Amino acid sequence: MYRVIQYLKLGEVEMVENVIIIGSGPAGYAAAIYAARNDLDPILIRGLQAGGQLMLTSFVENYPGFESILGPDLMEKMSQHSKKFLSPNKIIDNDVTSVDLNSFPYKVHVEDKVYETYSLIIASGASAKWLGLENEKRLIGKGVSGCAVCDAFFFKNKSVVVVGGGDSAMEDAGYLAKFAKDVIIIHRRDKFRASSIMQDRVFSNPKIKVIWDTVVEDVLGTDHVEGVKLKNVKTGEEKIMPTQGLFIAIGHYPNTDMFKGQLQIDELGYIVTHDSVKTSKEGVFAAGDVQDRRYKQAVIAAGWGAMAAIEATKFLEEKKIVK
Ligand code: NAP
Repeated sequence: MYRVIQYLKLGEVEMVENVIIIGSGPAGYAAAIYAARNDLDPILIRGLQAGGQLMLTSFVENYPGFESILGPDLMEKMSQHSKKFLSPNKIIDNDVTSVDLNSFPYKVHVEDKVYETYSLIIASGASAKWLGLENEKRLIGKGVSGCAVCDAFFFKNKSVVVVGGGDSAMEDAGYLAKFAKDVIIIHRRDKFRASSIMQDRVFSNPKIKVIWDTVVEDVLGTDHVEGVKLKNVKTGEEKIMPTQGLFIAIGHYPNTDMFKGQLQIDELGYIVTHDSVKTSKEGVFAAGDVQDRRYKQAVIAAGWGAMAAIEATKFLEEKKIVK
């Protein structure tokens, strides 16, 4: 139905893409499926580690249609689904090196290859935050972890600590409790922000205890984690707690570094959107956790992705790039 119009440059006929999608979480895959089904023949740049944050989670129980499914299995289903509609040579499993949104058509660099495109959907998602302690960084992979699902197995019958008070911390604690001897959640306030169902599971698990109003001030150990230094933020009391594992689950920051200075970005690093998915540049759309500072749910990210593909299609039609 749609026809790609060729773009002339210095006498050569060079292909300019209709749309490039950056990211392979639910937003990226939904955008790819919608764009491909609109005959835009999109390029999907999935990154070196395809699948986004759900690759690091255990059971997903709130994605409609799946009562309970492992995060990586859900992403594999999305990948297979997208392959039904995408051209095989238009799936790129590499990271974007940089983008140039200051000239049109836009440019997307992947190592030494440059792709030109009339529209862009940014679904680059978010990455896990760390506490920012020197010893935390030094002991990553030696007892400090940002991924309970990946590393829980190594903590069989050991004592572990989880930092955070959101759904991720609850989920990590529950998952770790299947392996570890005991799990202690350290939270900086006296109340969790996690959903009630996730909190209830934590409170009813006899292996999990909570220490409230407390922060981790340091991580102890030479070759591997041996303990954490804690401070009660209300009383100022400090204590050393022995532990063999420290799991950080304190939220995420949007992956927007390469767009800084080219798109409007808010003070927390999220791409600013208007009319749902439109960014400050015409033809550039943002979907999912890279612009959603409020909901941050897989199902909502997929919805943003679909919206971005619909808006990109409208943009290309209005510009008479496709019909
Ligand atoms: P989050 O909801 O932003 O929670 C982050 C937690 O870490 C908060 O409790 C916060 O404390 C604490 N925190 C932040 N910075 C800290 C620091 N420097 N030191 C100590 N504590 C710190 O993040 P999330 O838990 O990763 O969840 C993100 C989104 O994904 C949420 O919308 C969540 O619903 C969703 N999610 C859903 C599921 C599920 O449904 N199965 C699973 C995982 C995540 P304060 O509370 O004091 O701010």
